[in-house]
Amino acid sequence: MKQISRLRQSIAQGGWRYLNPTSLQFRLISEIAILSVLSLGSVGLWTGWKMQQILIATHQQNVEYIAARFPRDVELYSEMLSVKTGLQKTINNVSNPSLLIWVKGQDSQILAQSDSLRAESAANTAALMSLAEMPSQPQVYSIGDRYVVLRGSSLTVKNKLLGNVYIAQDVTANQQQLISALQGLLLVSALAIALTLTAITLRIRRSLRPLQEMSQIAGAISAEDLSSAQLPLNRAPSEVKELAETFNLMLSRLSSAWENQRQFVGNVSHELRTPLTIVHGYLQSVLRRSTNLSAYQQEALETASAEADRTVRMLEDLLDLARADHGHLYFRQEAVLLSALVVEVAEMTQRVSNRQITVTAPSCEIRVQGDRDRLQQVLINLVDNAIKYSAPDQPVDLILEQTEQQVMVHVRDRGVGISLQHQNRIFERFYRVDETMTRSRDGTGLGLAIAKGLIESMAGYITLRSKPAEGSIFTINLPLWKPLP
Ligand code: ADP
Repeated sequence: MKQISRLRQSIAQGGWRYLNPTSLQFRLISEIAILSVLSLGSVGLWTGWKMQQILIATHQQNVEYIAARFPRDVELYSEMLSVKTGLQKTINNVSNPSLLIWVKGQDSQILAQSDSLRAESAANTAALMSLAEMPSQPQVYSIGDRYVVLRGSSLTVKNKLLGNVYIAQDVTANQQQLISALQGLLLVSALAIALTLTAITLRIRRSLRPLQEMSQIAGAISAEDLSSAQLPLNRAPSEVKELAETFNLMLSRLSSAWENQRQFVGNVSHELRTPLTIVHGYLQSVLRRSTNLSAYQQEALETASAEADRTVRMLEDLLDLARADHGHLYFRQEAVLLSALVVEVAEMTQRVSNRQITVTAPSCEIRVQGDRDRLQQVLINLVDNAIKYSAPDQPVDLILEQTEQQVMVHVRDRGVGISLQHQNRIFERFYRVDETMTRSRDGTGLGLAIAKGLIESMAGYITLRSKPAEGSIFTINLPLWKPLP
């Protein structure tokens, strides 16, 4: 249960891998980003092109009008004056500071030009002149830092081809307005894309969260959490909701299957314990009373008796676990003098095992709230493990510590230790680190699961620190008993 709420917390804090290119979120967001850039980009390009066309059309009329009138005016003037003077007079008549006009003869010599063109810098004039192919339809050209709409057409006076007339209208101000409008459009589009993407990212994240929760819960779920593990459905979109509902139904089915299995194990343990205890009793009595047994018979009976005893103990453990699961394990909630209990357990286990068990404790009396017999059972279990999984010459230490709210009992050995990969699972039922190694050391793999269940029922918890080949420290944390004021 705790594990699941921690999990939900971590999901809420956003443990999502944004940058995983294979994730659905990454793909959706990048595809939407590309589509937005493409669609808004093409709208921008089209708008730019259209505005440019409008700008050209605005000036085209004027340029076309001048170009159309030009040959007639030259013809009129040249009836009284020379053609060259007629050209210049016509240019002077129409030209203004923003209109550049020049006429090139067939030999590419300039025959006449407007004053405005003369006033232009040499570089701008050269750039204008160098435009080899003058457009018959007006077009926008960039000359230095200026923009002009340029049109060129042949000039025929009195049915004689004189050369070409070129008319350039300065449109710098309008072009700059157009460019800044396009820049504004670009900026607004970029902002719109950024805002849209942020909104879509948040939406997608929310929509996909149930999927993520599902995978994390499925990965972290343990048998104990099954009954309480359910996905929250209120915020999920309907497509994901369907999947989440199926997932929840599956969890419920698993939970009831697990419950049935537990009940079955409890019932079987109960049914087997009595006959096996009787078998063990008979075997013990035969062993004690028979004087004429052969060595083989003696050994066979001893093995059978030891196995029966081991199985009875395992069945008792299983019954304890089944009772704890159903909340039927009876606990006394009393003040337990833990400092005395630890010393008692140390003396008892030292006597039975011939192993040195040291106790380090503060001189004051330390009491915790709990059940004395169950605490003794847990301590014996931990010390028994410490003895089993360390060399015979290594002592086992029991260290008692007290803080303002808590009491800690450390059971320390210098034995085989437990590698990190096993440390998370060591408290699971029937979990044993190395089958071949632990089988030989007599055990069921239930001791730590029971110890954890018992301590948690007393509002405490067990932790483990261990290093392979260096040893392990199992720590029982219990709330300090405080007398009522
Ligand atoms: P078992 O009856 O097998 O000892 P436990 O539940 O008490 O069952 O322990 C589970 C497993 O944890 C053991 O099989 C052993 O591999 C490992 N273990 C427990 N205590 C220790 C310890 N002090 N040092 C090393 N390994 C341990």
